Amino acid sequence: MIPDWRSERQRMVDRQLRKRGIHDLRVLDAMRTIPREEFVPPDCRVCSYQDEPLQIGYGQTISQPYMIALMAELLELTGCETVLDVGGGCGYHAAVLGALAACVVSIEIIPGLARQAQQNLLRTGLGGNISVICGDGSQGWPEGAPYDGISVAAAAPEIPAALMAQLKDPGRLIIPVGAMFDQELRVIAKSGGQVQERVATFCRFVPLRGDQGWQ
Ligand code: SAH
Repeated sequence: MIPDWRSERQRMVDRQLRKRGIHDLRVLDAMRTIPREEFVPPDCRVCSYQDEPLQIGYGQTISQPYMIALMAELLELTGCETVLDVGGGCGYHAAVLGALAACVVSIEIIPGLARQAQQNLLRTGLGGNISVICGDGSQGWPEGAPYDGISVAAAAPEIPAALMAQLKDPGRLIIPVGAMFDQELRVIAKSGGQVQERVATFCRFVPLRGDQGWQ
């Protein structure tokens, strides 16, 4: 039997997002409409809306729906921003950001995953304002900078200087920082030449690789 994806999405939004405090209506709307099942590998499609990360191959995972919604909400997007998505994976997170911002650059270090993201975005018709780049996002993507928002979906040992340099003023950077398997999700807000930083929650992301990552 083919699952009723719309109902699954609605249930996910109600039980996993709203109940835990996600309140940005644009974020809830994006999560309610974007077909996560089109981005996960075919053999775990039925698990698409489970309250957990899922394997997407190459030892990587697509984040839990709640984490993606939280990170998107923390960016405080209004629809006119340029956003850098570091750690593009299968492209789902980029699709959510694409629904909330004017344009998204999604950078992924594993060529096979960057290819999948590109195909998933093309197939779903959600990639119109998203550029998928294959490269080391720990150094950002200077060609598209500066960014109003930067969202990093892999854990860094420290905040990469290049990402701070490519963030606009005002602008917001959301990034998990800490040890390889245990981090805090930090919100860095640049405004009026000042930088403010706070911890939104504790989390566990796959490690950021590359020059400013865990190598
Ligand atoms: N947001 C993704 C999944 C994130 S998993 C999704 O929606 O599917 C983290 C991803 O970060 C993995 O795909 C991993 O390959 C990628 N990654 C790790 N280090 C990276 C780097 N330095 N630059 C770009 N991508 C990186």
